[in-house]
Amino acid sequence: MTQEAIKPIPNPKDTLVCYKGGGYDGCFWEWNYFLFDGDGEFHNIFSSGYAGLDTVEGALKLLADLSGDEDGKVFITDLTSEDDIMEFQDDTNEGSVIGITKKVNEIYGEEKMWWECDYCKKRVTEGIPHGYYCEGGIHISAGKKACESCDSQHTCFRCGEFHEDASDANVNDEDNCIYCVEDKDSEE
Ligand SMILES: [Zn+2]
Ligand SMILES: [Zn+2]
Repeated sequence: MTQEAIKPIPNPKDTLVCYKGGGYDGCFWEWNYFLFDGDGEFHNIFSSGYAGLDTVEGALKLLADLSGDEDGKVFITDLTSEDDIMEFQDDTNEGSVIGITKKVNEIYGEEKMWWECDYCKKRVTEGIPHGYYCEGGIHISAGKKACESCDSQHTCFRCGEFHEDASDANVNDEDNCIYCVEDKDSEE
């Protein structure tokens, strides 16, 4: 996501936009997303609250004047740029990366967008968020993204627990994890 998006974008194409939407009774906001596809057609991916933009007019108006965006309210991803796609996954929370990538690819009907698995470093388009941690003592965030193959390699066959280290999840022939093996040992 490029923050130096001061130039107006009059005819957006292959452009994913993340902006501060939301806004209800209080002063809450949340990230909203829209897309202009390869034909320049508008798709509202997610909008909420009074600041959400669900019309092409609103979206074009936002992109027509980004001059007041010093405080980073709008982030633009050029979907033809690998650097931009990499930047998007670095700047966006893991759950949203997985969800937005899936929606964008559904709209395109092809694998336009991807992300890098935090475990095998392969470029994938689907997976599962992991590595949950408590953010600011308020809410739970995922810290990592696993592709489907890493997800199964890191998950204990017996208890279903995901382990950061795949070798902890597969300590015997039955793919049991370190905890399950310990439990079994103490029973014997
Ligand atoms: Zn992987
Ligand atoms: Zn286990």
